[in-house]
Amino acid sequence: MKPVIALVGRPNVGKSTLFNRLTKTRDAIVADFAGLTRDRHYGHGRQGKLEYIVIDTGGFEPDAGSGIYREMARQTQQAVAEADVVLFVVDARAGLSAQDHEIANYLRRLGKPCVLAGNKAEGMQGSAQLAEFYELGLGEVFPVSAAHGQGVRGLVEHALQPLPVLEEDDAAEPGQEVIRLAVAGRPNVGKSTLINAWLGEERLVAFDLPGTTRDAITVPLERGGRKFELIDTAGLRRKGRVFEAIEKFSVVKTLQAIESAHVVLLLLDATQGVTDQDAHIAGYILESGRAVVVAINKWDAVDSYQRQELERSIETRLSFLKFASMHYISAQKRQGLAPLWTALVQAYKAANCKMPTPLLTRVLLEAVQFQSPKRAGSFRPKLRYAHQGGMNPPIIVVHGNSLEHVTDAYKRFLEGRFRKEFDLVGTPLRIEMKTSA
Ligand code: GDP
Ligand code: GDP
Repeated sequence: MKPVIALVGRPNVGKSTLFNRLTKTRDAIVADFAGLTRDRHYGHGRQGKLEYIVIDTGGFEPDAGSGIYREMARQTQQAVAEADVVLFVVDARAGLSAQDHEIANYLRRLGKPCVLAGNKAEGMQGSAQLAEFYELGLGEVFPVSAAHGQGVRGLVEHALQPLPVLEEDDAAEPGQEVIRLAVAGRPNVGKSTLINAWLGEERLVAFDLPGTTRDAITVPLERGGRKFELIDTAGLRRKGRVFEAIEKFSVVKTLQAIESAHVVLLLLDATQGVTDQDAHIAGYILESGRAVVVAINKWDAVDSYQRQELERSIETRLSFLKFASMHYISAQKRQGLAPLWTALVQAYKAANCKMPTPLLTRVLLEAVQFQSPKRAGSFRPKLRYAHQGGMNPPIIVVHGNSLEHVTDAYKRFLEGRFRKEFDLVGTPLRIEMKTSA
């Protein structure tokens, strides 16, 4: 499980700026996906081998009044409760404020590991003004400048230091190992119903005891001779013969489950169309690089007009998941469930596909012969050969000359050819261009 860092602090101290800095590397990877909805409050970050999830809690009000503010405060508190460490951001330039004291009191009551970041501290090293933050009783202040990137590395290292270092899994071989599966979807799409439909068929279910946020609950399943491990996203607890979601929907749990899965099943509700929250979750899955299968649930409850509307909204709002297979199901009536398992295995295999250099190069050269890349001024990109640069998700590295002039449209054309040749359904595919000097 990736550790979770929550950014907390009063408005204007620089939380969003710090958030952007902490999540920058991962964002760059997916920047060029059209139609991808960005949720500004959750992101992935990486620093060397340290990987983490960051939450920007927005404006923090320990005692928010009512309505939307209360709901925001509730969500903030949930995020803080689920975080492994809280980064409490204060404004080093503005100095200590009454609101900082309030937040500090709140955090102290929680007893969470907490690191104090004095932001906007460029040029303030050793300044007496930083010392006043000791009053908060949260220990040392780390001077940082989110805007200039100063001190941020050290801050992250310090914040994550007591936590187990997470190294990226070596890509799993598609042998007979257990496929880790996460069912992701917003509240009420039917996750529990689907999981119970699966487990209802199970004669023997071993079930781990509920743990802390860091220990995901997993349920073993076997389908079609393959072993799966279902990672809980719904806060499931066993109640008699069925599982019941006792916790509210949690973005953190969803993110962690997606991260630790091999394959994600994205569940949508046919009666609701594609909502913003669906698009956000789909965005997280894409950012994670995980293999994905999409299932549209409650197919029993929609008429033909709604079905058409739904297909249209999937086309426009989830266009970046075109590579995934779509399945129309009814968890309640247990319809359409069997093909899901085939699709999940297919997506898993695609994500771990091995693509030999000679075959990749042949496909590349055939594609070029079919349609060569456009000339850009006096440059004509020359594509020479391709090799596989990684798995899970697969990365194809194309070598040649003047490749910086290859257009996105042409890359998509190549992607289509590679996908077809290697039957890559259900996995993202990255194509990188490497120009030789
Ligand atoms: P948030 O409300 O806590 O999310 O704060 P923002 O990230 O929106 O930043 C508030 C203001 O502080 C913006 O005008 C930023 O440009 C500015 N700011 C953020 N980080 C720094 C910094 O490191 N140094 C300085 N001088 N200004 C900063
Ligand atoms: P979760 O929050 O994603 O775990 O959603 P639940 O499994 O609790 O389901 C939310 C609601 O949708 C419940 O009232 C279910 O009975 C209903 N539901 C789930 N699957 C289906 C389905 O396939 N068809 C219909 N008509 N309703 C369903």
